[in-house]
Amino acid sequence: MTKSIPNILLIYTGGTIGMIKDPETGALRAFDFDNLLIRIPELKLLDCNISTTTFNEPIDSSNMEPKYWVDIAEIIEENYDSCDGFVVLHGSDTMSYTASALSFMLEHLAKPVIFTGSQLPIGDLRTDAKENLITSIQIASLQHYNKPIIKEVCLYFEYKLYRANRTTKINAEHFEAFTSLNYPDLAESGVHLKINNEYLFKPNARKQLVVHKELEKNIALVKLFPGISKQLLTCIFNTADLKGVILETYGAGNCTTEDWFINLLKETIQKGIHIINVTQCSGGSVMMGQYETSEKLKKIGIISGKDITTEAAISKLMYLLGQNVSPKLFKTIYETALRGEMS
Ligand code: ASP
Repeated sequence: MTKSIPNILLIYTGGTIGMIKDPETGALRAFDFDNLLIRIPELKLLDCNISTTTFNEPIDSSNMEPKYWVDIAEIIEENYDSCDGFVVLHGSDTMSYTASALSFMLEHLAKPVIFTGSQLPIGDLRTDAKENLITSIQIASLQHYNKPIIKEVCLYFEYKLYRANRTTKINAEHFEAFTSLNYPDLAESGVHLKINNEYLFKPNARKQLVVHKELEKNIALVKLFPGISKQLLTCIFNTADLKGVILETYGAGNCTTEDWFINLLKETIQKGIHIINVTQCSGGSVMMGQYETSEKLKKIGIISGKDITTEAAISKLMYLLGQNVSPKLFKTIYETALRGEMS
């Protein structure tokens, strides 16, 4: 079999990675991606064909919105047949949210979609952007008998490849800005690129890509703290058109057992609003029923987020609400791992 040269599409959405310092003013501005190969000649050495596309107006990822998730999904959909892999350049601040959302939106994905970014702009002398970009493209190009090795949405940063929907940004300064505490790294880049094959997602090869674009934004994220008031929570849970709530509880999914609190959750669920229990801890899992302080949540029908990250919990909720899943099935489906996002 002759080895084909993979076609990789680079999608620039914004963020520090694509910025260079204007030599005259010193201000950071978006890099001209049409000149990518001229600016980073190392890319010519890679064993793939690279094409690029950028958002009309690249954004700082703090301005990220589900409508832009749909834009990224559509670019991938339009180029899915002609490209073998995708590298999405994105600001690091909300990268885990976008990448998690894309993992749900791209059902039966059978090609690599690698998100990356950097802490320093690509034009900076000490930049981490070049390594992140070059290795991401290499990973997206990996093939075995002309078939992609990675078949899921990943995030590559500072020598590590993670399952995207398992990641969280943990550091605003270090080059090692992300972690995946509840799932092993998919690959590590050292002298060799070491792929941990046993942890890669294995989609059903017979199914065609389905791109889901309906996302429900009427949801809330509530983080408990000792002393959180009834007044505040009553206000949040009675928000007009609210469809679901991610409740960040303590430890293994514990919360206050005060009657007003449990009753408020119960009434909310009775109104048809889904409540998902996720832990405030960076690692570990919700285990409702382990302590008396979570037993009541289990009884009233709270959904367990198990060991999902908050970023993935939010996008999974938006995605499933957009799918019009029947209320009876919602809990079961939410508690099922759809894209390897929970154990
Ligand atoms: N604020 C930037 C962004 O998320 C930071 C970065 O690119 O890392 O777009």
